[in-house]
Amino acid sequence: MRSPSGTKPRQSGKLDSGALSSPERLGAHVSTQGGPASAPPRAAAIGATAMQIFTKTPNMWREPVITPEIATAFKKSRDDHPVAAAISHDSYLINLASPDPALWARSREAFEGELRRSEALGLDGIVSHPGNFIAEHDAGLERNARAITEALRTVPGELMVFLETTAGGGTVLGRSFEELRSIRDLIGDDVRHRVGFCADTCHLFSAGYDLVNDYDGVWASWDRIIGLRHLRCIHLNDSKTPFASRKDRHELIGEGSLGPEPFRRLMRDARFAATPKILETPKGDEDEVTNDRRMLSLLRGFVAGV
Ligand SMILES: [Zn+2]
Ligand SMILES: [Zn+2]
Repeated sequence: MRSPSGTKPRQSGKLDSGALSSPERLGAHVSTQGGPASAPPRAAAIGATAMQIFTKTPNMWREPVITPEIATAFKKSRDDHPVAAAISHDSYLINLASPDPALWARSREAFEGELRRSEALGLDGIVSHPGNFIAEHDAGLERNARAITEALRTVPGELMVFLETTAGGGTVLGRSFEELRSIRDLIGDDVRHRVGFCADTCHLFSAGYDLVNDYDGVWASWDRIIGLRHLRCIHLNDSKTPFASRKDRHELIGEGSLGPEPFRRLMRDARFAATPKILETPKGDEDEVTNDRRMLSLLRGFVAGV
């Protein structure tokens, strides 16, 4: 993997020296409407150094194929813009923990398609929501891990899967650090090194991890149970709902129940300096750039001590 923690910085003649010398990988989820190659200019238009994309329409089962032409166009576009980290997010329909064999098989196949497209595009990783176990909690963890193991085996390479923390409504897995760790532990030895985690600030807070009053305690707990080295991506979202609500409703940074302080600390936390940080905050009705630009400049202001 060419990006985040510790490995070689991405080499690109088009990155300016400032972008190369800074470890910053900060950006937002951006649209691929018009094709994957349209995403890097969208990221550049908001001043991002990292981006997250969908490689398909996320609420449809249709599985597009990335042709060599599409992959080449995307890689050229990425080289032409200062995007140091590029990540995809899997489809909302996928439930790798499903007890229904047909839905599980369909999800596993769709997840494999996601891996193939992301690998073809040369992305750094895929953010994946742990599934809904519906029934039999422990068997759900196993089903989730088995699907990821099988999919990773069919798509060899360095592409990573980042299991995302969830708000924990209903029977969704991934609300607790223990559960996330269990899924990784159940993944096959031969592919486990390709599985890391994505921490979503809104989801953590809704799940009962108090980033506002116990920032240090939350990360100490993460380190003890999961290991900070496995944190490979951060989703920066404030929350529309109160602490421990188990709800997943994103709000603009500093304008929700978390407020600005946890984000100020995250942005200034040396442990996370090179970790890709992605906004999934409301874009607003006006256009797709104004809010994201404002959010990124607010976050960079935190680093500068504003
Ligand atoms: Zn997220
Ligand atoms: Zn969310």
